[in-house]
Amino acid sequence: MTNPKFLVIGGGPSGLSAAQDIAEAGGDAILVEKETFLGGTPKKLHYSLLAPDMKPVEEVLDPLISSVENSSVRRLLGASVKSVEKKGGRFNVTIESNGTSVSESVDAVIVATGFSHWDPHKKYEYAYGVYPDVIDFKDFEKMLSDEKIVRPSNGQQPKRIAWLLCVGSRDKQVGKFYCCRLGCAVSIKQAMEVRRIHPEIDTYVYYMDIRTYGFWEDKLYWKSMEEYGVKYIRGRIGSINKGEDGRLIAMAEDTILQRPSEVPFDMVILATGMEASEGTLEASKLLGLEIEEHGFIKPLESDSMPVSTAVPGVYVCGTATGPKAIPDSITEGSAAAMKALNYVRRRTIKVPAGA
Ligand code: SF4
Repeated sequence: MTNPKFLVIGGGPSGLSAAQDIAEAGGDAILVEKETFLGGTPKKLHYSLLAPDMKPVEEVLDPLISSVENSSVRRLLGASVKSVEKKGGRFNVTIESNGTSVSESVDAVIVATGFSHWDPHKKYEYAYGVYPDVIDFKDFEKMLSDEKIVRPSNGQQPKRIAWLLCVGSRDKQVGKFYCCRLGCAVSIKQAMEVRRIHPEIDTYVYYMDIRTYGFWEDKLYWKSMEEYGVKYIRGRIGSINKGEDGRLIAMAEDTILQRPSEVPFDMVILATGMEASEGTLEASKLLGLEIEEHGFIKPLESDSMPVSTAVPGVYVCGTATGPKAIPDSITEGSAAAMKALNYVRRRTIKVPAGA
C-alpha cells in the first residue's frame, strides 16, 4: 500500500503547522507556497514583535520553519496550484513550480492560503498615498523591526504619533462590517514598542472601543497606559489634513468630551483590517469551496467543524476562514492535519463501527 499523500496550499503559520503534523504522523506532505520562502505574511512583511508576549516573529515561526525544512515534507516554493480534478476519491493536481508543471495525485488537501491587509487607499479621507507620513500598520511593523522610526516625508524622528483603529473594518461605507480582531492589539503593541525604544515620542490611539480579548486586556491595554504612558482618545478621525508646518492634522470628534478636536501629529498609523487573500479566493474556485458573507472560505460548520469544508477530503485552516491570531492559526493547522489524516485513514483502513 502506498503512503497517503497530502497537499498543503500555503506556507504561513497554519500551513507549516499542518505540514509538520502530517509528516510527524508518517504521511507524505507536499507544501506549495507562492513565495520563495516559508513563514507567510508575518515573514513577508517583516513583522516585529508579536502581541501579547512581545516575542520577535522569528522566535515564534523559525522553529516551525526549521521543523518543516528538516522533515520529509516536500516543499515547492515559488509555486502555485493551477488545476484540481477530483477522481475516484483522490485529487489530481497540477502545480506550476519554477516554470515547470508538476502533476500529483493526493488523498486530501489542506487550504492554508492566509489573508491580505485591507488596502487603505480606499479610505481616501485618511490620505494614505497622498501624505507620506500616513502609513498603515504593516508599513510601521517594518520600521519597528528595523528599529528605525522616522517620518517618511523628511527622515526625522517624529515627536507625536497617532494610531487610528478600525480602518477597513466595522465600516459600512467600505462594505467591511466585521471586526478585524487584531487591530487594537497590534496598534497598542506598536505604541508600546515605540515608547520602549523612544520614551520621548508621544503616542495616541483613536478608538471606537478597544477589543483586546482574553489575556490581551491586561497584557496590552492596561499595561500600555500604566507602564508605557500610551494615551487614548475615544473618537474616530474624520479626515487627515496637512498643516502649514507640514505636520498632519487629525480632525476628529472626541466622543467622551463631546467636542470636535484637531490635533497635530508627525505620523498617523492606520490599523487596516484583514480580508481574504487572492490565494484564498483562487483556492476556493479550484476546489469548489463556498465563500461566506464576509468573503472568506466557509467552513462546514463554523462552530463545531471549523476546519472541515463541504467538499470531502478538503480542509481549511488559519486566516483563510477569517481574521485570526498566529497561535490560533497554528492550532487550526494541527486540527486540519488531524482531520485530513483521519479522513484518509477511514478510507483506507476498515474502521470498526462506532470507532
Ligand atoms: S480589533 Fe480593534 S481595530 Fe480591529 S476592527 Fe476590532 S475594534 Fe477595530
